[in-house]
Amino acid sequence: MQNTVTPTHCPYCALQCGMNLTRTPDGSSVEVGERADFPVNRGALCGKGRTAPAVLSSRVRLTSPLVRDAGGALVPASWEEALGRVAEGLGRARSEFGADAVGVFGGGGLTNEKAYSLGKFARVVLGTSQIDYNGRFCMSSAAAAGNAAFGLDRGLPFPLEDIPRTGCVILVGSNPAETMPPSLRYFTELRENGGTLIVVDPRRTKTAEHADLHLAPRPGTDLALALGLLHLVVAEGRTDEAYVRERTAGWEETRAAAMAHWPEYVERITGVPVPRLREAVRLFCEPEAAMVLTARGPEQQAKGTDTVGAWINLCLATGRAGRPLSGYGCLTGQGNGQGGREHGQKADQLPGYRKLTDPAARAHVAEVWGVDPDSLPGPGRSAYELLDALGTDIRSLLLMGSNPVVSAPRAAHVEERIRALDFLAVCDVVLSETAALADVVLPVTQWAEETGTTTNLEGRVLLRRRAITPPEGVRSDLEVLHELAARLGGGRNLEKGFPTDPEEVFEELRRASAGGPADYSGITYRRLAEENGVFWPCPASGGPEGGVHPGTPRLFHDRFATGDGRARFVPVSHRPVAEEPDEEYPLLLTTGRVVAQYQSGAQTRRVDELNAAAPGPFVELHPRLAERLGAAEGEPVAVVSRRGRAVAPARITTAIRPDTVFMPFHWAGEGRANTLTNPALDPTSRMPEFKACAVRVEAVGAGEPARAAR
Ligand code: SF4
Repeated sequence: MQNTVTPTHCPYCALQCGMNLTRTPDGSSVEVGERADFPVNRGALCGKGRTAPAVLSSRVRLTSPLVRDAGGALVPASWEEALGRVAEGLGRARSEFGADAVGVFGGGGLTNEKAYSLGKFARVVLGTSQIDYNGRFCMSSAAAAGNAAFGLDRGLPFPLEDIPRTGCVILVGSNPAETMPPSLRYFTELRENGGTLIVVDPRRTKTAEHADLHLAPRPGTDLALALGLLHLVVAEGRTDEAYVRERTAGWEETRAAAMAHWPEYVERITGVPVPRLREAVRLFCEPEAAMVLTARGPEQQAKGTDTVGAWINLCLATGRAGRPLSGYGCLTGQGNGQGGREHGQKADQLPGYRKLTDPAARAHVAEVWGVDPDSLPGPGRSAYELLDALGTDIRSLLLMGSNPVVSAPRAAHVEERIRALDFLAVCDVVLSETAALADVVLPVTQWAEETGTTTNLEGRVLLRRRAITPPEGVRSDLEVLHELAARLGGGRNLEKGFPTDPEEVFEELRRASAGGPADYSGITYRRLAEENGVFWPCPASGGPEGGVHPGTPRLFHDRFATGDGRARFVPVSHRPVAEEPDEEYPLLLTTGRVVAQYQSGAQTRRVDELNAAAPGPFVELHPRLAERLGAAEGEPVAVVSRRGRAVAPARITTAIRPDTVFMPFHWAGEGRANTLTNPALDPTSRMPEFKACAVRVEAVGAGEPARAAR
């Protein structure tokens, strides 16, 4: 017998790198190998992807349902008992307090099929409006700004392969050298081809080290920075007047707002010297084509939508959108951050990126689901608001593919709200910090054990294939929803609407998305396998000469997705972060990721090799700040905000501004960064302000009395 090789994709980030999984004949082990035919990563993988199989066979892998016994311990139980307890827990809240007393919380790592089924389950089986997902924390500000400007939001409106061929890229609040290392080659090739890379980040990250120009604004001031650049564009006569006239609307008001942000004023707000602003404008405007790419930095702010909008305005004023090798794009973070938001697990959306408030969208989806449109609930709460309502308005929660005890802002409060629930059910592969609080834990299959589709940051829909047989005792999320629908349907056979075969679910998703902004109706599993991915929108027909639609790698070249085909300028103005430093909390904390861990660490903290590379949290401090504190490298320091205190070793570096400290957010316990973060929400996207909150830092080492940094 021979080894079996299955071409598939990494379970982690939005790059969705292609990989080959080689399984030994007895199925006892699986190894990751290079898959050179997938164009996005061209065979390259980061350490997370390379070690991903370790989670499949981890000794802490859950292989039996767990239920909480009378003594409060989680103990193994049969699937029958566990599913019965979940149906009872969700059903009781629904009958005692109404459908909206049941919450559903999903994840940006769920496949399209799971996200679609979870949204349908919430609205059809539970009848609740209270569903949202952790992707809200990831890209919703970029989505809101993209929709307002272009009439459509897709992470990148062009393939990554366009990056090396443009003239300049401004990378705002993104650190791909650590978050998605194989993508760094696109920026390296850009520079090799004579293009320039500008990185905007308060820290001199590994990515910033590759830049031609690094702008390091105070956290939360990149909106002002973008306005200052736009001011200079206008003042220096670099506006693309013809483009603005022919392809946009609303310029005058935006121009006026930018002119109020003169460079010296912007320097005072951001700390970025005027000559550097001028240099950035020159580098961005001189080439024929240029791009702006944003990530969590500008997005995870209480003004994230306006901040991204300011960068889009810069693109529009200079004619850098909807043209070859030019455009604005968002580098989404989670594995299916893009697809997960398109098919219905977001509080305000139906499949196909349709709006839940749109009567025509409700009618279309209701017909596919075989229900009365009026039976569909309206939009529910956003992710943080949903978590904040646990134990009060929301009494029972079904949670799938998320670990908010580590990843949500103001995490100690969120943990308290989760503990206040009457009932919590969690589907996961390991006992995450959130699963450990559950009344019932359902052990589910993971990436290599199941088939499904994801949509990467380019809008490329991909097929992840099952490569190995799951361990005995686990079931897929789709099976869980099927079984729960049977138990909660009250004899209505609702389980028929929840197939357990992913391809069957995808076939229904195709119909539900048909005609919507994210139209997948022309995509099939067969095409995904043969074509190595297909870009949405891809309608069922409309290809050349009436043939198969080829998909849409590049958006907006002919027109934007607005009623009149023009992009919209949205005027924005600078405003401070929600929590400015003061006497008591004189510094700003910003948070992010490290290369060897992924998100809440639920999977990667179970991999020895990754733990050896990144064993725990740390606090990055500038040497001047460390000196004031009396903090030494590796000694513990406490970071204190209005929401709590976290302790981690100091890492002293000139790569950070003296007025800012940085913590990665992958860990639980006393080093949990999200104990500190501020849940102030963007008014449009409802995204929390993870990227800036006021803190003080105290040295706690060597038994000395703590000194606070001022
Ligand atoms: Fe996986 Fe992302 Fe690493 Fe690629 S860059 S191997 S998708 S974690």
